[in-house]
Amino acid sequence: MNNELMRIYNRQVLIFTDLDGTLMDHYSYEHKDAKHCMNRLLGHSIPIIPNTSKTFSELLVLRKRLKLNGPFIIENGAAIYINKNFLPEKPKGALWQEGFWVKSFSSKRNYWLGLIKKVTPEYGHLFESFSKMSQERIIELTGLSVEDALLSSQRQFGEPLFWKGTDEELEGFIAVLRRMGSHPVKGGRFLHVGGDCNKGKALTWLLKEYQRQHKNITVSTIALGDGKNDIAMLEVADTAVRIASPVNEPPELQRTTKIHTSSLHGPKGWAEVLEQLIPESTFFAQSK
Ligand SMILES: [Mg+2]
Repeated sequence: MNNELMRIYNRQVLIFTDLDGTLMDHYSYEHKDAKHCMNRLLGHSIPIIPNTSKTFSELLVLRKRLKLNGPFIIENGAAIYINKNFLPEKPKGALWQEGFWVKSFSSKRNYWLGLIKKVTPEYGHLFESFSKMSQERIIELTGLSVEDALLSSQRQFGEPLFWKGTDEELEGFIAVLRRMGSHPVKGGRFLHVGGDCNKGKALTWLLKEYQRQHKNITVSTIALGDGKNDIAMLEVADTAVRIASPVNEPPELQRTTKIHTSSLHGPKGWAEVLEQLIPESTFFAQSK
């Protein structure tokens, strides 16, 4: 076992994972190639925590499909939902909502829709706002089924925009939105307009809360992602895993250590790297 594995294995590991293009295939949204690896890790009580741009409504369905029953982070770090048995006590600053402890980090969607309205006269011809899209258009842009498209439109904290302009125009637009107090993040398909939250801040908050409530355990984190909106969590996790994507280059990181990049796409790459980082032999070595 190498040193990195030793460091991981003397601790409780928390895995934070992007979904689209990472645990789930960018095109088919399937996760079957990661299933075996997921089940093995869950069997060793390693939580797999989705950290996604998707909505609460989508996650309720996806958790069942993925057979995950732990915490999850929605809408690019806008809120964390924590199941009651994940932590011994109420998490600080969380509210009990719909069967979860919920910690939110952003203003609600209406606030951001108001802001987008202000920039529409000048930039409206360059983007399509999710809230204004027909269900057919959402399906066309995302490849989601009718049911899933409906769930994805139930956003609480931010607004996705489909960009139709050039990259240069996008840069200018992002600068304008920033000056107005929003923190736009480019995902795999959309520009997400929302508050000062990201997948990294959410990861850090949950890690701190977990550590506060488990003082005798040293916790380490692995984050996996394939897009720009994953950079914040890839930077703050102990180990960063970049999943190769069929549509973009692996996200560029500032950090220079403990970065792994998969050679395979999506769920195949997910399993490829986690099988290397957490091989079954580790557990035998640990129990000896
Ligand atoms: Mg992704």
